[in-house]
Amino acid sequence: MLYPTPIAKLIESFSKLPGIGIKTATRLAFYTIGMSDEDVNEFAKNLLSAKRELTYCSVCGNLTDDDPCNICTDATRDLSTILVVEESKDVSAMEKIQEYHGLYHVLHGLISPMNGVSPDDINLKTLITRLMDTEVKEVIIATNATADGEATSMYISRVLKPAGIKVTRLARGLAVGSDIEYADEVTLLRAIENRTEL
Ligand SMILES: [Zn+2]
Repeated sequence: MLYPTPIAKLIESFSKLPGIGIKTATRLAFYTIGMSDEDVNEFAKNLLSAKRELTYCSVCGNLTDDDPCNICTDATRDLSTILVVEESKDVSAMEKIQEYHGLYHVLHGLISPMNGVSPDDINLKTLITRLMDTEVKEVIIATNATADGEATSMYISRVLKPAGIKVTRLARGLAVGSDIEYADEVTLLRAIENRTEL
C-alpha cells in the first residue's frame, strides 16, 4: 500500500529501531500522527536532545550528560574497586540494587574471537590506563555469562593479574547466557556477594 511521503518516511524511521518490523512501524507512525502537537514536539525534542547532550564519560565510558560522569566524580564512591560491564545499561542495572559503591568501566562490546572482535576493538585500553595511576585493588568482571563474556573475562584477568590487581568474576547465580540487564535484584546481589577470584 502506498502512503503519502511524510508517513512513509516516518514508518521507515520507526522500522530502523531494533525489534520493530514494518507492521509495528506502521502502527507507531499512525499513532504518532494522532498525537497532540504538544506531545509530538516533546517527543522530537527528547530524541534530539538525547542524541546531542549525551556523551561517553572519558574515564569510565558510561553514557553521561556530564564528562566525567557523576559516578566518576562522586567523592563518596569506593575508589579501590572497578566493576567492568559490557554496556551502559548494565551500570543502571547495578546501580538499581544500591549495594555496589565502587566505580565502573564500560567496555562497549565484548571480545569475540568468533566475530573477529579483538581487545583493541572495545574500550579496554582506558581501563588499563586507569589502573596505572589509581588506588584500584580489585577489578570485578561482570560480563554476561556467554562465550564472548567468558573470553573477555579471561583476557582481562590474564592482563591484570601480573600487575598485582585482584580480579574477580560475578558468581554464577546468573544462568548461562543470561543478561545482567534483565537479572532480578536478588540474583544480581548474590552474584556480587559470591564473586570468585580468577
Ligand atoms: Zn565515568
